[in-house]
Amino acid sequence: MNVAIIGTGYVGTVTGTCFAELGHNVVCVDVDAAKVDQINAGIPPIHEPGLPALLKTHVGKRLRATDDYNDAILNSEVTFICVGTPSGDDGRIDLSIVRSASTSIGKALAERSADASHTYHVVVVKSTVVPGTTDEVVAPLIRANGGDAGVVGIAMNPEFLREGKAVHDFMNPDKIVIGGDARAVDTVARLYEKIPCEITRTDTRTAEMIKYANNSFLATKISFANEIGNICKKLGIDVYEVMSAIGKDFRISEQFLNAGAGFGGSCFPKDVKALIGRAGELGYDPLLLNAVIMINEEQPMRMIELLTNRIRDVRNRRIAVLGLSFKNDTDDIRESRSIPVIRELLNRGATVAAYDPLAAENMREVFPDILYCDSAKSALEDADACLIMTEWAEFGSLDQEFDAMREIVVIDGRRMVSLDRGVYEGICW
Ligand code: NAD
Repeated sequence: MNVAIIGTGYVGTVTGTCFAELGHNVVCVDVDAAKVDQINAGIPPIHEPGLPALLKTHVGKRLRATDDYNDAILNSEVTFICVGTPSGDDGRIDLSIVRSASTSIGKALAERSADASHTYHVVVVKSTVVPGTTDEVVAPLIRANGGDAGVVGIAMNPEFLREGKAVHDFMNPDKIVIGGDARAVDTVARLYEKIPCEITRTDTRTAEMIKYANNSFLATKISFANEIGNICKKLGIDVYEVMSAIGKDFRISEQFLNAGAGFGGSCFPKDVKALIGRAGELGYDPLLLNAVIMINEEQPMRMIELLTNRIRDVRNRRIAVLGLSFKNDTDDIRESRSIPVIRELLNRGATVAAYDPLAAENMREVFPDILYCDSAKSALEDADACLIMTEWAEFGSLDQEFDAMREIVVIDGRRMVSLDRGVYEGICW
């Protein structure tokens, strides 16, 4: 099938490339000309394992990129909206990019030639949007801009991929959810027919809610583990032993029970806040979801508290921060727990020496003036303390590197290290 992908970030680039791998012809659209050029040169605009090889295979053959909506949409049967849906200042979802993309799609569909104007075209929302958005915001904008000749279908197909494992997750999903009327859902389902996975067919609002419920539940598991971990620490109990045991209960599962510095990323914080915001608009105060966010915002400050229990005044002290991305195997720093930690260290006058295998360039835009080191070893050199913020595998083999510190004080937010000398303390253990 011929597919247009609107927005070539983490979701759009992976979706487009994987659809090409599944045999479809894909045109990606982005307003960022640099990303368009990168894709056409076979270079993914994001870091994702496995993506460079896959993109190289298909670019110029079954996949290309453009900044021209008409070019992409007039040559496609299905258009996926994969643009960002950030949090607004009040935490509620900011749909301005979705609105803008929907308007552009409507205008492009209105340009269909007389021949093509009766060809069925489905617009699919893949961006994470609060329930009601597809029907009440996207569809009306497409129609208002001329995209409806009775032959434009609307569907909602949430994405569940994990950054760092996105290609694998897209090609090996545990669920595919498609919301919409039967014709639209059938059309979208055909795109996935080579993937052996059951398709959950539903309406658009339920599809939208499934995504929020999914992310909110995972975020809840993490905040639950962190809360139990905070209590365990006070009791001198190892929370990892506790979580490992309860994870054996099939009703619980061991996933997402790692206590630590909290969750970040472009999805969990903003999606839980968006659901809280939507519930608030409906007159419901979601107590559990509010607590999930509150616990998560406290965890990075616990790193600072543990540090200042050891070094009372961090002013002019060199603090090594290991890990800047919100999790391992990605260069994404959105809502990374390192951000509030570094901000607080700077407020207190510390000198921050940071290291991350991939994310330093992105973090430089947030903190241009901290010291960026090219290895964990050089960040640790002459440091007065070290905070481990991301679960990069390479941190697990650090050992002698800590001896280069002025004093060995290591506060571990991810349970990466075990040290038999100096001060070693885990955030929840
Ligand atoms: P992103 O910010 O990485 O990418 C969005 C892209 O859209 C950018 O390249 C941007 O330049 C482009 N864009 C902005 N305005 C545009 C316009 N008017 N027309 C065309 N392109 C435009 O976002 P992302 O992380 O890929 O997330 C996209 C959506 O998918 C969000 O709703 C997100 O919540 C959801 N999602 C993300 C993930 C994830 O792990 N990142 C997983 C599942 C779902």
